[in-house]
Amino acid sequence: MTYRLDNFIDGAFQPAISRETFIKLEPATSLELAVVAASGQDDVDAAVASAQRAFKTSWRDIGAVRRGQCLQRLADLVERDAEVLVNLLAREQGRASIEMRMMDVPMTVDTLRYFAGWADKLEGRTVPTAGSMGRMTVNYTELEPIGVVAQVIPWNAPLMICAWKLAPALAAGCTVVIKPSEDAPVALSHLMRLIAEAGIPPGVVNLLHGIGPTAGRALVAHPDVAKVSFTGSTEVGRAIARDLAGSFKPLTLELGGKAAQIVMADADIEQAVGGLMMGLYANQGQTCAAGSRILVHRSISEAISEALAAATNAIRVGDPLHADTQMGALINARHKARVDSYIERGKSEGARMIAGGRVMPDRGNFVCPTLFAHDDPNSTLAQEEIFGPVGVILAFDDEDEAVRIANSTRYALSASLWTRDVSRAHRLARQIDVGAVAVNCWSPLDPRLAWGGHKDSGLGHDLSRRALEAYLREKTVTIAL
Ligand code: NAD
Repeated sequence: MTYRLDNFIDGAFQPAISRETFIKLEPATSLELAVVAASGQDDVDAAVASAQRAFKTSWRDIGAVRRGQCLQRLADLVERDAEVLVNLLAREQGRASIEMRMMDVPMTVDTLRYFAGWADKLEGRTVPTAGSMGRMTVNYTELEPIGVVAQVIPWNAPLMICAWKLAPALAAGCTVVIKPSEDAPVALSHLMRLIAEAGIPPGVVNLLHGIGPTAGRALVAHPDVAKVSFTGSTEVGRAIARDLAGSFKPLTLELGGKAAQIVMADADIEQAVGGLMMGLYANQGQTCAAGSRILVHRSISEAISEALAAATNAIRVGDPLHADTQMGALINARHKARVDSYIERGKSEGARMIAGGRVMPDRGNFVCPTLFAHDDPNSTLAQEEIFGPVGVILAFDDEDEAVRIANSTRYALSASLWTRDVSRAHRLARQIDVGAVAVNCWSPLDPRLAWGGHKDSGLGHDLSRRALEAYLREKTVTIAL
């Protein structure tokens, strides 16, 4: 079945005004999955106007309690439709459905409920001062929603990342135009049905399908868009920052990563191997937190390499919808070719391939999980975000060297550390220059914990109270008595 995906504007599904469409293929079969609206400037204008109307007429003033209730109802509906969403996500992403069932859908529900709880707790302050011109004053602040927000979503975890942006924006009283990735438009279209069913008024949430450099670019640049929240590649994030320079629109940029997973000599090896495998291969390595650089103390590097190689070669790759599948297909043929080219590059740059090389199905974008060992922390494999099931093991001799290698990329998003020594855990957590350090586990995501990086990994945060702050302005009111 081919899905026909229209924009969702002002509470109604409607095709692009030009009637133009593009085709979305299913990663695991290379067959047509959806025909999707290809929005142009007119559609962007209509979506932003709809969000602007809803901001001014309903959502901002509907009351914080009602906003929280709407988000709770949406969470209930996502829970009700969990299996529908798991299926849509697995098909559009090519990713093993078990991951969506265990992670993306529950995390979406948790995120909606967490921010629903915040909606009626966003309070201003009263501030004592010495008064003004000899008169006493009462001074207070109010938190105001920023207005219409453009939220640009990547393909690698579309539902969950959309919830990370949507929930705090709606709790704060903003209205949104969501631009899904052209590679993952299906599950978010279903989410729009749930948004209508949850009683969220028309225009509060709008979905604008389309091609990034046209629809996405026009959306973020629209003069009535007051804030942009983007998750995606560093290159596109940089292009958006360039486009918006001078507009003074606040920007949240959640960009790429090249996480180190550091294994100290005193680590619990069995526990570490389980976590390292998850960090390497969750979502076929297509996560910003992918722990694709495994830094291992030289004294245990052989043991860890052997265990990881055996586990890598045992990964069951195949049909994303099959219950036994551990790894599915990559998002599209272009991305598969790119990841394959990194494997060839690793070989030609002298890395030792210690796992991989299995024959993959010839239809669909399957890439064999592949592990290298290398001596050079500056090699392509150790520096570039591959965004696929490809990792590299690097040995180190002491703590200082581990930290030096961990901090040696242009990214600063996340890292994990495996040790039984509590002092060392705290010491290294301070020294590793990233937004999130996980000790004896791999990047646990939780709506209560801020998620964001610096350097080429971006600006600002999703999740936690910090995400809410990005959708609010603080206004000061002074009354002379
Ligand atoms: P991408 O940058 O290619 O696309 C992301 C989104 O931006 C898509 O919706 C696309 O249509 C849109 N877009 C493209 N050009 C645009 C433009 N000029 N203006 C406005 N929008 C535009 O990224 P992707 O391939 O979808 O996602 C993978 C990347 O996302 C990886 O680099 C990954 O690390 C990153 N990512 C980061 C996080 C995080 O939290 N830091 C989370 C997930 C993914």
